[in-house]
Parts: sequence; structure tokens; C-alpha cells
Amino acid sequence: MSEQKKYVYRFTAARTEGEASMKNLLGGKGANLAEMCRIGIAVPPGFTITTEACTEYTQKGGDYVLELIREEVQEGVRALEAEMGKKFGDATDPLLLSVRSGARASMPGMMDTILNLGLNDEAVEGLASRTGNARFAWDSYRRFVQMYGDVVMGLKPVAKEDHDPFEVIIEMVKKKKGVQSDTDLDAHDLKELVRRFKALIHARLGLEFPKDPWEQLWGAVLAVFESWNNQRARVYRELNDIPEWWGTAVNVQTMVFGNLGDSSATGVAFTRDAATGEDLFNGEFLVNAQGEDVVAGIRTPQQITLEGSRRWAHLACIGEEERKAKYPSLEEIMPEVYHQLLHAETTLENHYKDMQDVEFTIQEDKLWMLQTRNGKRTGAAMVRIAMEMLRQDMIDEKTALMRVAPERLDELLHPVFDSKARAKARVLARGLSASPGAATGQIVFFADDAEEWAKKGHSVILVRLETSPEDLRGMSVAKGILTARGGMTSHAAVVARGMGKCCVSGAGAIHVDYRKRTMTINQETWQEGDWISLNGSTGEVYEGQLETMDAELSGDFGALMKLADKYRRMEVRTNADTPEEAAVARKFGATGIGLCRTEHMFFEGDRIRSVREMILADDEAGRRKALAKLLPMQRGDFEGLFQTMNGKPVTIRLLDPPLHEFLPHDEASQQEMARDMKVSVGKIKMRVEELHESNPMMGHRGCRLGITYPEITEMQARAILEAALNMQAKGLEVKAEIMIPLVGSVREFDAQAAIIHRVAEEVFAEYGEKIHYLVGTMIETPRAALVADSIGRQAEFFSFGTNDLTQMTLGFSRDDAGKFLPPYIRKGIYERDPFQSIDQKGVGLLVEMAIQKGRSVRPGIEVGICGEHGGDPASVEFFHRIGLDYVSCSPFRVPVARLAATQAAIRQE
Ligand code: PEP
Ligand code: MG
Repeated sequence: MSEQKKYVYRFTAARTEGEASMKNLLGGKGANLAEMCRIGIAVPPGFTITTEACTEYTQKGGDYVLELIREEVQEGVRALEAEMGKKFGDATDPLLLSVRSGARASMPGMMDTILNLGLNDEAVEGLASRTGNARFAWDSYRRFVQMYGDVVMGLKPVAKEDHDPFEVIIEMVKKKKGVQSDTDLDAHDLKELVRRFKALIHARLGLEFPKDPWEQLWGAVLAVFESWNNQRARVYRELNDIPEWWGTAVNVQTMVFGNLGDSSATGVAFTRDAATGEDLFNGEFLVNAQGEDVVAGIRTPQQITLEGSRRWAHLACIGEEERKAKYPSLEEIMPEVYHQLLHAETTLENHYKDMQDVEFTIQEDKLWMLQTRNGKRTGAAMVRIAMEMLRQDMIDEKTALMRVAPERLDELLHPVFDSKARAKARVLARGLSASPGAATGQIVFFADDAEEWAKKGHSVILVRLETSPEDLRGMSVAKGILTARGGMTSHAAVVARGMGKCCVSGAGAIHVDYRKRTMTINQETWQEGDWISLNGSTGEVYEGQLETMDAELSGDFGALMKLADKYRRMEVRTNADTPEEAAVARKFGATGIGLCRTEHMFFEGDRIRSVREMILADDEAGRRKALAKLLPMQRGDFEGLFQTMNGKPVTIRLLDPPLHEFLPHDEASQQEMARDMKVSVGKIKMRVEELHESNPMMGHRGCRLGITYPEITEMQARAILEAALNMQAKGLEVKAEIMIPLVGSVREFDAQAAIIHRVAEEVFAEYGEKIHYLVGTMIETPRAALVADSIGRQAEFFSFGTNDLTQMTLGFSRDDAGKFLPPYIRKGIYERDPFQSIDQKGVGLLVEMAIQKGRSVRPGIEVGICGEHGGDPASVEFFHRIGLDYVSCSPFRVPVARLAATQAAIRQE
């Protein structure tokens, strides 16, 4: 069967067998080379060996695959010979080939390339006399032997400290001749290099350098297949979710030369600006050079357009005279070819209807395109290009919306590091990219120090093993937060995202010594006050103070988000605890608050004192006294939220965390608390002891608090309803939704709801006024999902707490999973961190089932999700598919979720 399979696809003027849609089979490069041929762009003729051949190679080895492809490749080479009027291995006018890899997705620099294949001791003479340029011919041969010796024959440095053995020889020859640059070597020197290279290969490997061009070609093809599995490529695939079974294609193509003199050149170009998105053709080139010279950075490349050249000179502080003399643009020195290039880039962009990144070579005034692909770009460029192409009628609205990767919107919302500063920075450690953005500041280890330092005008980075609610205020004044422990739903990560603050969590290499106030990484130590910088978008920790730039909130961004709403079905609410957070979220388009965690308010100002008084109280009367002090403060909080969200729903959750979180655990703080509250330290210690639990996440928390201390529920219900009535009296529209956490049995719900309704009646009687409100529940225990029909008969809305639901369904502790999740993900047991991206098959199934059960008893019941998954695009897509009414996420994720919800709707059409 496999004999009939086609493994080679040509792209020649006479016959082109592939096209752009065949990326899976031909790789990105091969498919686009074929497509360019089809639309009349000049491409050096060649053929592509399919990714399926690579898979055969991986499974059955080189000999097997050569038998499969031999005849087709031979026919392919014959077709090239016919088209070019040259012969492979010919001693007078040899056909030379390039052999390059090309996977489905671009993997820049990860796999191997061989140029000038087909040269040997005879062919090089042919090339020299055909071109009348012996230096060029011997330089091409020298490069070929070097590349082939390295990539195919495997002559590489032995130890990681060793220099490249070929470069060592080049240096020796240059030294002997007393010259600095490769370009100072003449044909004789290059001939000498070839001789020495071959001798080295023979001495080190015991192998002759192959003379037969066919032997060279088979070796090169197999080497490219082999490079799919090299270490670099494996790591890249792992980082970019590229599956191993894809394999790479091999492109065999006629060589064109950019190093044949001053009418030859090579370069790269973008049809638009990849950093800003500006509709400006731009790129760089080098006269008389080969592809790798542009990348090697030995010579300063010149700009393609005059406009680009002037802008470049301005930035480089180079005057117009000098620019013109030393660094003229292609537009100025080769106007004819420049216009060919301009025509090609316009044709390509119009054809692909996306920004293209192209590589080209000019050989003696003739332009050849070597590659085109959709160019990589920044988040800002992504938005601008999509919206501009829409205005230019190149793409329709839905295409524009699908062009922007939702998670890249982050870059438009947070300050970012200057890319030049970042390139030079020293990376000290890596953690999770818990909350995006860029932060630079001085290290502090304690939240109260953070506050104090910030008050004095310092920029600080709070470095902790982990954070707790007690650290909230310190976190809010810090520029960024770095923790050694904890995952994507750790306290630090959740709170930082809510604040829109940069956070790197779980940077395991960091050792924090609170006593000495030091942070140690690999035996190097940093003190309190030392400067570091955090990149919350990559999880990198840098040494020192890095320059940041304010992120641009451009007009196109606003327009894109507005357009997104046109196609979106799901609402996007926000998790916000304060009016400030709510205001940010509204600015980003949140249509309500999906979760207000009331406990976060308990730390503000001196409320913590009243909270502690309640916890220390010996009886109900004592607790009520303390709660009475909290009531006006909570009421004020809720008034602020209702005011900010005027007319939009506000979902407020009753107290959820275990009470021990509100008491200090270290000796000094306990003594301070005792002094402040005029009680004995012993009493505090005793209460801490009593509240201690082995598994606090499965302990006395959630509605279990309200069941055991109904007066807490009473106070919170009263604060919410009074606030609602007060705001209504001011003429605002109030939509209050009271949410009961961690319900497992409908009886828990009933008991709590009864308290809320009773308090409501009391408050309404006192005010002589009523207000419409809903009482609903979080579905965050597996039991709640299983009995969602019985709960749904009572609860007026469901909000899935997927953080706890994930924790309890998988049996993974939210706080400890960071220790074993990374190897789990590396081994593919879970594809992604289930606290970050919803486990669709397990937890997702529970959610889906609970929605159906809820709707079966209460059609139209409002269902949303407020776990961290609400801001993850893949999870948002899933929630759309299973029919949730809304997702709720931290303010800075709102635009991301809005766009992800839109894309889900468009995909489903
Ligand atoms: C949840 O469990 O998903 C949730 C939103 O509540 P919390 O994270 O506060 O436990
Ligand atoms: Mg929860």
C-alpha cells in the first residue's frame, strides 16, 4: 500500500503539486513555496519530501525511508536539472541544492539546514569558471563542507566549553595570514580551509567527505529528519505544544546566491510592522551576502525602504549624509529590484490576507522569494493589523476577531519591559507566569515592610515563600509579588490577578530566609533592599532594575472589543472585592460582579480588630457585639460596589475561609494582638490551637461557618440588603445576588437561605421599602453537582466555584499540587494545569451535568462560573459550549474572556 503513496511534491514552473492548504503534509515552508509558485511569484524551483516520510523515518529508520522516496526524489532532481539547464554534480555547470527542514508550525532555528549541496572537487571548479569568481566558488564549497561536516557527519564540539572545531581552523588560517575578517580570505585560503576541514573530518571521524552528490543528498535528507528529534527541537515542541508525531518535511530547492557581487543581496521583510502593527513595509538586507550573514550580525544590515532607513538612522543617531553613504536603502541602490519586491510583498499580503514575513535573495538583479509565512507579532500589532485589515476590506468582521489570540490582550493592559532591556537582562529564576505585567523594585520580605517602604516612596517587590490574606495590604502597595511556593490558584496568584498586579509564583529555585531577610538562588544571595525585576507574562525573575514602558490602550483595541460584543452570547462578569477593582473591570467591559469575596474586606483598615474580637468571643452575645461593629463597615463596602456597578448584577458571597486565617500565627504578632486587644497571649494561642485543622480547605469553612455561627450570616445579609436599599433610595438600580458558599446538601442551603429571608423581612419592615434580590449558591463540591436538581429547586442561581470543584474532584490540594503537577504535565497525565484550564472530561462533566439538573427543575436558572478558569480562553470556550450564561474573572482578564467567548460563539456557528 505504501508503495503507492506520494512522498515528493514538486514546485517548479512546469509543475506545482502542492498548495497552501497542505501544511500538514508539506510543512509550512513547503506548502507556502508551492502556493507562491502557483500565484506567479519567482521561487527557486524545488520539491518537498512529506512529513509522512519523516514519520516513516522515525518509526522504521533511514534505509527503509530511502527505499520509499528514492525514485520520486531522483525524478524530482531530474526535473530541476531540466528546468535549470544544469546537471547535479556536473564538472562544468553544477546544479546546487539547499536542503531545509519545514514543520507544520514554524520552529525557528530548531532544525538543520544544508546549503550549496552538490559541490565536490570537480564541481567547485565548474562553479568558479561558470561564475568567473573563484573566491565565491571556494567560499560556497567551504560553507558546504562545514555545514555538512557538522549537521550530517556530526563533527561537533565535544565538551560544552569547546569552540566549534571548524571555526577554530578558520581562526588559525586567519591568524597565519594576519587578517581579522573572513572576507579577507581569498580563493587560495578558502581552498586551504576546505582541505583542512576534510582532513579534520577524516582524523576525527575516520570518514571520507562524500564526493558523490547523491550520497550527499541522501545524507542531508536523513539528517533533517533526524534533527526533528534533536534536543533543541524536543524542548521547543514541549514549550509550544507541538506533538512529536507531526514530523518535519524536507525542502530540496535550487540554490540562488546573494553573494555573487554587488548586484546580489539577501534579506528578510515584513509586510507590516510586527511590533506596532503599522501598515508599513519594512525589513533588512545585506549586499553580497548569504542568508546566515544577516542573522550572524557581523555586518550591519541596511533597511529596505527609504522611510525605514531614515527612521532607523534617526534612532541610531546617524546623520542623513552618513546614512546615504554607508547604509543606503534597497529602494535607493536597487530601485528596479525594490519595485519587484514591493510588488511581491503586496501580492503575498493580498493573497494570504495577513501580515507576511518573507525571506528573499537577489541574484544578479533578479529577485527570488525563499519563504513566506504569517508573521509573528506582538499583542498590540495583532489588534491593530486585524482592525486595519478589516477597514481596508481585506478581511471580514469574524476573521478580524479570530485573528487576535485572546491571551495576547494581556500585553495591552499591563506595563511591559522595554524589549532591549529584557534582551540584556540576567535571568535569576523562573516561576509560573501567575499575573502578567512587568515590575521592578527593591526586595522586601514582609507585608508591613512593603507598606512602610512604599509610604517612603520606594518601589518594592514582595518576596515570600507564599502569601496569605494577612499580606493583602502589603501586596497592594508592592509593584510585584514573587513567591517560592504555590500554583496558579495560590493566594498570591489569585489576589495579584485581581489587582492587575505582576506576580511570579512558585519559583522553586528561590530560598527565602525570613530571619536573615535574604533570598538565595544557587548559592547567590540577595538582601532586603536589592533590586530585582519580575516578568509576570513569562515567569522570569531578573537581576536589577529594568526599564518599563506603559502599555498602550489604543483605539483599535476598544473597537475590537466592541465588535466582539456583537457576536458574543455569554456574559462576562468580574471577580471584584472593592469599588476600585469593580471600576477597572467595568472599564474593561464587565457586565456585572460574579464574585465578591467578602472576607477580603475584613482586612481593610481596623476591621481586622473587630473580626478578631468576634473570633475570640466566648459566646454568641460576644460575637454579636463584635459583628455589630463590622456591620456599618460592610454596608459601606457594598454600597460602593452597588454604586460602581449601577444597574449591573452584583453577586456577593457570604464568608468562606476558615477562621484561623484571621489570626496571627507567629509569636511577635500574637503578642502585639494581645496588647492591642487587651487579652492574654495565652487566650490567643488557645484559640489558634482550637481552630487548627489538618485539612482546613475541607474543614470549618464555607456555609459551615454560617451554619455554626448564624449571626455571621445575619450580619452579612443585613449589610447587603441595607446597602441595596440605601443605594436604591439614591435613585440607583440595584441587582443584589446573595451567594452561599461550599454547599453540599440542600439542607445547608435551606438553613442559610431561611436566615437571609428572615433578615430581609426585618430590614424591609424597618425601611418600609423592599428590594428584589436573589439567593443562590456556589456549586463547588462534587456532591452539590450530583444533587444539583434538589438544590436547584431552592437556589435562584448557580455559580460554579471551579477552584474548589477541581480540588475536590481531582483530590488535588490547591495549595500543595504545585509540588507534583509539573512532572504530571511533563508526563502528559494531565495536558495542562487543571487549576488553570478546566479538566473538561472530569470536572467539566460535573458542571455540564449540574447545569442540566438545575435547568430541569428551574428552567432559565442563571448559571455562571467564578473560579479562575473564567479567564482562561480554552476553558471559556468549553463553558460556552456547555451553555453557561456567564463567566466571571479578575478585572484584567475581562477583555481576554470577552474575546474568547466571542471566538467560541463564532467557532460554533
Ligand atoms: C472557587 O472555589 O472556585 C471559588 C471561586 O472560590 P474560592 O477560590 O474563593 O474558594
Ligand atoms: Mg471556593
